[in-house]
Amino acid sequence: MDLLELNSTYDNGRAHPTIHQVRIIGNQTNFPISWLNIQGYCEYSIYLENFQHIKLKANTAMLKGTRIHNQLEEEFQKDAISTTIDEIIETSQTEEVLSREFFVMSKEYGIRGFIDEIWLGPDSIVIIDDKPGDKAYFSMKNQVYAYALAFKNSICNDKKIECALRTRGTDNIFWREEFTKESEENIKNIIQHVQNLIAGEDDFIPTKNPNKCRVCRFNKVCPNNKS
Ligand code: SF4
Repeated sequence: MDLLELNSTYDNGRAHPTIHQVRIIGNQTNFPISWLNIQGYCEYSIYLENFQHIKLKANTAMLKGTRIHNQLEEEFQKDAISTTIDEIIETSQTEEVLSREFFVMSKEYGIRGFIDEIWLGPDSIVIIDDKPGDKAYFSMKNQVYAYALAFKNSICNDKKIECALRTRGTDNIFWREEFTKESEENIKNIIQHVQNLIAGEDDFIPTKNPNKCRVCRFNKVCPNNKS
């Protein structure tokens, strides 16, 4: 399998005047795809962090995740060849290509992010997100569906795309599913809801699950804490 690192340049637009992590690219607000995992857990934490600008230190799990992620990236870069998206797509017509930290952006839907790992082959694409543990929560799936939508919308729409979740730092793929028309329509609706939150047209709904609040890093400052 060829190891190719995407050397991408892209229109970064400009920062939103009041909302952290949101950029305005073209005429469209553009948010990080990782928000979709957070949104599925409790979208009120997006409000606290990015709209209210509450800054908290990363917790132990986050620091551990970053450390493993960086180790994997360093290993990959030892053997990877840096190249363009056109060359990656061209090579993948005949050979399997593995890439990491693969940037995707859909200007149309207003989403962007880095795919942890992607396998590109002549017949199909596998998009992999690394997570702690081995339970496939719908919020995690939404994040991968959004990568798939951005890939399909901006890079290539004529191959089968599979979405996968893998235990971070291992080869254990614990969920793998084709990106279907139904998944696509569903994630488009969720993305539109987040765009409505950004535009102030929808309200942020806090979770009702006290177990989520108990382990939420915002629980000491959140007025909706149920724990
Ligand atoms: S404390 Fe609960 S309601 Fe508040 S942001 Fe965290 S998970 Fe959401």
